[in-house]
Amino acid sequence: MKRDKIIEMEQVSFKYEKEWVVERVDLTIEQGQFLGLVGPNGSGKSTLIKLMLGINKPDRGAVKLFGQSIKNFNQWQEIGFVSQKANSFNSGFPATVLEVVKTGLVSRIGTFKFFNRKHKEKAIEALKTVEMEEYANSNIGELSGGQQQRVFIARALVSDPSLLILDEPTVGVDAKHVTAFYDLLRKLNQEKGISLLMVTHDIGTITEHATHVVCMNKTVHFHGASEEYKEFDNEDLNRLYGHSVQQLTHNHEHEVSQ
Ligand code: ADP
Repeated sequence: MKRDKIIEMEQVSFKYEKEWVVERVDLTIEQGQFLGLVGPNGSGKSTLIKLMLGINKPDRGAVKLFGQSIKNFNQWQEIGFVSQKANSFNSGFPATVLEVVKTGLVSRIGTFKFFNRKHKEKAIEALKTVEMEEYANSNIGELSGGQQQRVFIARALVSDPSLLILDEPTVGVDAKHVTAFYDLLRKLNQEKGISLLMVTHDIGTITEHATHVVCMNKTVHFHGASEEYKEFDNEDLNRLYGHSVQQLTHNHEHEVSQ
């Protein structure tokens, strides 16, 4: 059976100033996929996400969301987004976990309306999904990076999206909690039927979790099933990345330790 296409990019190009940052990207993501988006630093991954979210406007080409041109698209509650720095609140930040999750409903309830009991129940349900309900009344800043990341996933889940986009969600998550984090993503994908698009540096393990991988450097160099990506040897990867993958890993470690 042909699956529904949730994101279609056709010959999309984009520049911030003079230099093209995204060039002639053709990319289709289908319902139910867990897609890992990889590529070196500065290769245009975040920019591509912003093009999908309507934050950046393509200079060339077309973007469709759920079969509709992004220009007419108004079902934004279908797309949840967890940004890269979503887990770095310090202990003084004056909001509880429940309050943070409820802000994910703001576009639903509209202006000049107040949160009611149903909204609170939805927020608690989302916290249960990410196994954080016992922290509902804790201050967000008191939680670890990994726990905050789960809260921000709950915030994205509260409007029942069918696609969740995550920009480098494992940065700031303690290495020993990364496996549990991937288990949560698998549960969202397989049990809740949520399609996932995850930007990651984690080229070593992404193929163990994602169903599909896209490797980009301005344009898409590889798009296929994870099994196919696993067949690539180091030389293939170096060619795709345009430099040594060891160097990439080294850079990443440097970034994480900062
Ligand atoms: P990645 O997510 O793969 O690290 P980005 O999409 O963040 O890559 O960046 C791609 C290129 O665009 C980089 O050269 C970066 O410096 C540049 N860039 C990103 N954001 C902006 C911006 N707001 N204004 C100008 N240049 C930007």
